[in-house]
Amino acid sequence: MKVWILIGPPGAGKGTQGDLLKERLPIHKLSTGDVLRKHIEAETTLGRQVKSIMAEGKLVSDEILLALVAAELAEVQGQDVLLDGYPRTVAQADALEGLGVSVAQVIYLAVDESALVRRLTGRRLCPSCKRIYHIEASPPQLAGHCDYCVDTALIQREDDQEERIWTRLAIYEKETAPVLAYYRVKGLCQEVKAEGEVENIYAKVASIFLQEQSVIK
Ligand code: AMP
Repeated sequence: MKVWILIGPPGAGKGTQGDLLKERLPIHKLSTGDVLRKHIEAETTLGRQVKSIMAEGKLVSDEILLALVAAELAEVQGQDVLLDGYPRTVAQADALEGLGVSVAQVIYLAVDESALVRRLTGRRLCPSCKRIYHIEASPPQLAGHCDYCVDTALIQREDDQEERIWTRLAIYEKETAPVLAYYRVKGLCQEVKAEGEVENIYAKVASIFLQEQSVIK
C-alpha cells in the first residue's frame, strides 16, 4: 500500500481535487472530514462526540483520528490511498508513520488567504451525493439545487460561515503548516499553485501521481 497526502488550508480544493483523482485514477480516497460527517449524520457515538467541535471549526483529537484512520486503512489493504485531511498535526504525521504506511508524496495545494475566504463563504454542498459547488465559480444549473440529485437543496457547511473560517485558518497555520515542514525535510513535499481552473490544477496534481507508474489505469 502506498499513501498520497493532499494537504492545504481549508478551501484549497482538497475535496474537489481528491474527488477528481478518485474518479479518474485507481486510488481509494479517504477524507477524514467526510468520514466524520457521515458519523454525525448517522448519529453514532463518535458523531455525537465530534459534532460541536467540527461545527466550531476546531480539530478533533489526534487519538480519535488515529483510531479512525487505522480502521479505514485496514479495510483497504493493498490499494493505493489518497488521504484528504489527514494528517493535520505533527502528532498525526508521527502516528501515521507508526502505522507503518509508506508515504509516496505529499501534495501541497497553495492558495492565497483572500481567495480561500471567497471560496469557503461561497461553497455549497449537496447533502445527498456530497458534490461541491460554488455560488459564483461553479454554480449549479438551477440555483440552490444539485445538478445530479435534482430534488435536493444545497446546503452550506456550518463551519463555512465566515467567523468559523477565521478559526479554521488560524488552526491551519498553527497546527497543520508544521506538517508541511515535517514532510519537506523528508523530501516528500510537492507544491501546486491551486488557483485558476479546476482542470488546470488537476493536470498538475495528476502529473505528480503519474510519476508513479503503479497508479496508471
Ligand atoms: P474537512 O472536511 O477536511 O475540512 O474537515 C472538516 C472538519 O473535520 C475539520 O475542521 C475538523 O473538525 C475535522 N477533521 C477532519 N480531519 C481531521 C484531522 N485530521 N484532525 C482533526 N480534525 C479533523
